[in-house]
Parts: sequence; structure tokens; C-alpha cells
Amino acid sequence: MKDLIIIGAGPAGLTAGLYAARARLEAVAFERLAPGGQVLNTDRVENYPGFPEGITGFELIDRMKRQAENFGLLIESREVVELELSPEKKVVVTDQGPEETKALILACGAVPRKLGIEGESLLTGKGVSYCATCDGFFFRDQEVAVIGGGDTAVEEAIFLTRFASKVHLIHRRDRLRAVRLLEERARAEEKISFIWDTVPLKIEGRNGVEGVRLKNVKTGEESLLPVSGVFVFIGYTPTTDLVKGLLELDQGGFVVTDEGMETSVPGVFAAGDIRSKALRQVSTAVGEGAAAAFSAEKYIENLKGR
Ligand code: NAP
Repeated sequence: MKDLIIIGAGPAGLTAGLYAARARLEAVAFERLAPGGQVLNTDRVENYPGFPEGITGFELIDRMKRQAENFGLLIESREVVELELSPEKKVVVTDQGPEETKALILACGAVPRKLGIEGESLLTGKGVSYCATCDGFFFRDQEVAVIGGGDTAVEEAIFLTRFASKVHLIHRRDRLRAVRLLEERARAEEKISFIWDTVPLKIEGRNGVEGVRLKNVKTGEESLLPVSGVFVFIGYTPTTDLVKGLLELDQGGFVVTDEGMETSVPGVFAAGDIRSKALRQVSTAVGEGAAAAFSAEKYIENLKGR
């Protein structure tokens, strides 16, 4: 039996793994794809302390991974398909078989939320994208739309000005949710135009995006914006399908924990974007990963005392 299984190897999972390995727990992190999580979709991380010039998401993750592995964390490429969770027994069923563990840390993050409008699924990968770092390059000298008004939408709209001839930022309200610094940068960017109080109704095109049909929510007026790319940044949905019905989730489906990152099931902890909380940053994810590993260690110690 393992001491600790960590599901997900983004900043939260890798930090939990680093702390667990240094505590000499027999720990393993399972990652479906490559380690990294959402931060790999970020061109440059500017607000993670210690990197005054900023650092690419890729390099930051590579450093975190190497640091955790240097202390003995195992990272295995496995997909978790089912969980059995009770105070007495925790079984992680993966595509390569089941593993029993004394404690578990959920650090499987979140995935981009979809608009759910006509044309979105059909044109995903054909002009509809959820990652500017991955796809921005394909829109050199073309007009694109960005949907959303949070940090991600504004940051990625600024990034897209490197390639696109024009970036239309479409937000459903008349004020951005994004932090002021990003707003100031976007407003100073000539290539960015703001379309306020507007929602997308339909993405037009057959083999590629030809435009987006919009509706002004105040006037009810509809219009067609001709663009060849639509970038959707309207928040994230937590990856909690595996734990639905097994532990407490909030209204948005995020995992509820106490201060020590423990969920409603003793011995099961959560850290990073999957957790119910106000601020989702690399810096908060790593702190929670450390706290979750610390709590897991104490939990395992208590088991031995029984
Ligand atoms: P977010 O903060 O949840 O913002 C989502 C945006 O999409 C909001 O402006 C929201 O509008 C809009 N929206 C939601 N559903 C919509 C729909 N169905 N149709 C149209 N618009 C919709 O998500 P996020 O920007 O991805 O950020 C997620 C977290 O990561 C946040 O905590 C953020 O601070 C953090 N983050 C930080 C940085 C950074 O520090 N540099 C960078 C990226 C992300 P309303 O405003 O009207 O709700």
C-alpha cells in the first residue's frame, strides 16, 4: 500500500509531492497527460514570486517537476478512472489497475469552461480555441474575438496582439473582472477593441470560423462580427467528476476543504484550482499543495498510533 497518492501534477500536485517526498512518505503522483496543468497554457507567469523578469509556464513547471523528483517523488503517467473513498479505505483505480493508499491528495485542477453555443463544438480546433499560447500563431494578421472579462481573457487578448491584426474583447458586462494592471495594459494596446454588454449567440462557419453572431444584452441588438478565430476564456470547471457524490462540493462543483486542506472524507485532501476558494493562482496552488502534504503526513502518523 502507498502512503500517499496525489492525483494531478500541476503546481499544487508537484508541491505536495515535493513536501511528501521530503517527509519520506512513499508518494506517487498520477498524471493523465504530461505534468503541468493550466499553467502550461500561459505564455509568461509574471506574478509568481522569485522571478522578477517572469518565467514561461513551461519552464516553471519543468523546474517544479525536477525539484520534486530530486527528492524522490515518483510521477506516473496514469489515468484515474474511479475512486473508492471512505475513512477506512482509499482505492484509486487507474487505467493500469487499482492502488490502495493511506492518504490521497486531489490536485487535478480544472478545465476551460465552454460557452455552449451553436458552432462551438463543431469549430473547436478549426478557429475556436481555449489556449492562445497554443493557437495564437495561426492567426497572424487576422482578426480574432476573445470572449470573457476576467484575468485570463484580458491577459490572453494582450498576448494575441503579437499575431492578430485586431483583437475584439467581448464582455457580457460594462466592467472588466480582471485586475486593474491588466486592464490598463489592454486599454493601452491599439489592436484591442472592447465590445461591452455583449454575449456571443453563435459561431459562424463550416470548415473554419467565419464570424461570431453577437447580441447586446442592453439593447437586444444583434450583429455579426467577421473574425477568423474565437478564443473563449470564461472561467474553469473543476475536474471533479471522479468525486461527485463521494465528498462535499460547493455550488460550483469545487471541493470544500478545511484550513488544513482536508475534505469531508478523513485522509482525503485537495489543493489548487479544484478547491473551493476565491483566488486561483500558481502562488496559492503551491501553498495549498504544501499544506495538504503536511496534513496528509500528520494523518498517516496518527494512523500508525492507532
Ligand atoms: P474568471 O475570473 O471566472 O472570469 C471569467 C470571465 O468570463 C468573467 O468576466 C465572466 O463574466 C465571463 N463569463 C463567465 N461565463 C460566461 C458566459 N457564459 N458567457 C460570457 N462570459 C462569461 O475566470 P478566469 O479569467 O479564467 O480566471 C480564473 C482564475 O485564475 C481567477 O482567479 C483569476 O484571477 C486567475 N488568473 C490569474 C491570472 C494572473 O494573475 N495573471 C491570469 C489568469 C487567471 P462576469 O465578469 O460578468 O462574471
